[in-house]
Amino acid sequence: MSIFYGMHAASAAARANATAGEASRTARTTQTTVAELEQRLDRAMMACEAMWVMMRDKMGITDVELIDKINEIDLSDGQLDGKVRKTAVSCPKCRRTISRRHPRCMYCGQTIVHDPFA
Ligand SMILES: [Zn+2]
Repeated sequence: MSIFYGMHAASAAARANATAGEASRTARTTQTTVAELEQRLDRAMMACEAMWVMMRDKMGITDVELIDKINEIDLSDGQLDGKVRKTAVSCPKCRRTISRRHPRCMYCGQTIVHDPFA
């Protein structure tokens, strides 16, 4: 092994070590983010269940009616797949297709009232 090759190999090993360290930090950050999201999802699920139990008990809505409504919403995008795809919306004034992310039409400035669940 030449001196040059040895130096090159040491440099490559140092870069690989730095890359591995960065990947490890990214993995830890991602694990923390996932754990936080799981906690938030658990709280949202509990709130949803509490609201459902109150509606069922106070209003007499049945579990079958809830399941039928969930399936109806699931099918609103044409597929019964456990997801509701967000589709583009049309501006009520100029009829151009616009993003759901913007509160106003980027073409005519019309204020857009988006469906909060879409
Ligand atoms: Zn418009």
